[in-house]
Amino acid sequence: MAEILIDLRNVGRRYSSGEGTVHALRGVDIGIARGEMVAIIGQSGSGKSTLMNILGCLDRPTSGSYRIAGREMGSLDPDELAALRREHFGFIFQRYHLLGELTAAENAEVPAVYAGLSPVQRRGKAEALLQRLGMGSRTGHRPGQLSGGQQQRVSIARALVNDPDVILADEPTGALDRASGEEVLRILDEISASGRTVIIVTHDAGVAQRARRIIEIQDGSVISDRLNPRPSPPPGIAADDHPASSSSWWRSQLDRFREATRMALLAMNAHRMRAFLTMLGIIIGVASVVLVLALGSGSQARVLKDINRLGTNTLEFFPGKDFGDTKASKIRTLVLADAKVMAQQPYVDAISPTVSTTSTLRFGAIEVSAQVSGVGEQYFRVKNTELAEGSYLDADTVRSYAQDAVIDDNARKALFPDADVSPLGSVVLIGKVPCRVVGVTKQQQAGFGSSSTPIVYLPYTTVQARFIGNQVLRSISVRVDEATPMADAERAATALLTSRHNAKDFFVLNTDDIRKTVESTTQVLTLLVAAIAVISLLVGGIGVMNIMLVSVSERVGEIGVRMAVGARRSDILMQFLIEAVLVCLLGGALGLSLAVGFGTVFNALDVGFQLIYSPLAMVGSAIISMAIGIGFGYMPARNASRLDPATALARE
Ligand code: ADP
Ligand code: MG
Repeated sequence: MAEILIDLRNVGRRYSSGEGTVHALRGVDIGIARGEMVAIIGQSGSGKSTLMNILGCLDRPTSGSYRIAGREMGSLDPDELAALRREHFGFIFQRYHLLGELTAAENAEVPAVYAGLSPVQRRGKAEALLQRLGMGSRTGHRPGQLSGGQQQRVSIARALVNDPDVILADEPTGALDRASGEEVLRILDEISASGRTVIIVTHDAGVAQRARRIIEIQDGSVISDRLNPRPSPPPGIAADDHPASSSSWWRSQLDRFREATRMALLAMNAHRMRAFLTMLGIIIGVASVVLVLALGSGSQARVLKDINRLGTNTLEFFPGKDFGDTKASKIRTLVLADAKVMAQQPYVDAISPTVSTTSTLRFGAIEVSAQVSGVGEQYFRVKNTELAEGSYLDADTVRSYAQDAVIDDNARKALFPDADVSPLGSVVLIGKVPCRVVGVTKQQQAGFGSSSTPIVYLPYTTVQARFIGNQVLRSISVRVDEATPMADAERAATALLTSRHNAKDFFVLNTDDIRKTVESTTQVLTLLVAAIAVISLLVGGIGVMNIMLVSVSERVGEIGVRMAVGARRSDILMQFLIEAVLVCLLGGALGLSLAVGFGTVFNALDVGFQLIYSPLAMVGSAIISMAIGIGFGYMPARNASRLDPATALARE
């Protein structure tokens, strides 16, 4: 009557299994015209499903030729086969194979998503079909809320939604009671009457009687192919009045992406606990990376602040090789003249010789031991010391060996416990030397280089004459002019002193160097710990990969159904990759919030320094978690996309 649509010539299908090969089909010749309704019957194991899979382009023959509308399909690649399935075939399965997380209407829509129909169009078509199949009131139900017959009607709507030429039904009534089975057969009759080719596979002779043509196979060969005279079928339903108009390429790409994202979210939602546990590795990894970096920069900022208080641009010259030099006390070359010459240098902003000893402080009945620091009048400028009250030592006091003292906050607290009494003008005994208090320095912040030992500052002249009895200096402290780079000043001053001493018998403490050293050591430490944290991220990634592999193997059936209705490999790949990326991104976001939450508590506790979050670390952790999702999710997703549709379906 009409053109031959489906044309099998000498088709064979071998399975090589274990010991030998199984010939599921051998030398099958079948030609089916457009609009025919054909039943394929045979006993279990006769090769019906194998034939059906080949007809539906889910599987390929191992020999012979299969043409659809004249087109040889043996040479097509997986995506071209997917396209054929999308455009020409609608599948109805014995066990419906609906996706449990989707509603009836959404299930019916799935093939249209892969065909690139706009959301409005496909929803309209799916609902119209469900309406015509008597499911109009149940479009929002999930498969679990529907009876078998109703589920099968949803799957029929799904088979029809892309307006296919051929409907393939594998035991469509096999799981249904008589009445529902009868209803499904009536619908298939109508579909056939509307001009579509319907091929039903069954082992039930009664079902086969509904078809106009019955092909019987046994052991993989056709043993009879006969026409079945019967009354003409009832008036048909036209599955679609409006031919599908696909939307633009971009639109449909975006749409497929959205569908893949939605499926990924549904899958995550269906396994919330598992998704969370999967995320845990990422959460901990991201939180620790961000926290470690914040701790690192917070503590670094703290130490740097302490150093800056010492003055960022001071040079200090001490006799000897370094602080540990035991022979330093024998070196007597660092003298006042050195300081005087250096004071002339253009890079010097302020300079002070220092000498130092310890002694007891006595005021009234109170006696404490203290450090006695002999300094020049510029010392306080060099050290950036601020006064709480009174005045600094001035040039006159230094010149005149005055017995004037500036005491620090520790000394003030020790000697003058009553905070209301000003120590200014009081005379304290330092050793046996009475000195008048002229100034009190501000309290030092606790931290780097601080101690609780009281300090009194006296003119260095006074200390040399009254306490030490020699002219040797403990150090020369220099504040370098803002305009001069520290390294240049250090080099020039070192050269000057070396030429004066005819040897380099001193060492320099450069606060700038200290700052840089602290910076680089804390950076190195931070990076080291961060690297360890990154390892935990990698372990988290491996966890993600593991769970994704489980997820893929759990959903092989779903993947098979999607492939049967026309999903491309890339659609499947995208769905699982998106799931992995979402898990990781969500884990990253939770990890970040955890870190920030912890930091807020930490900062509120005020332990002496604040966490400093770097925006780079935050953006970086988001990027890294995404990369982990892609990197570790790719392999499982690829496995999913490479599944063979026929095998995948069989596993449901
Ligand atoms: P039916 O659907 O008629 O019950 P099938 O087409 O499923 O039969 O199977 C036909 C024959 O092919 C059987 O002997 C079966 O064991 C074999 N077969 C089917 N699928 C596979 C497979 N994937 N690997 C090996 N043998 C298979
Ligand atoms: Mg079968």
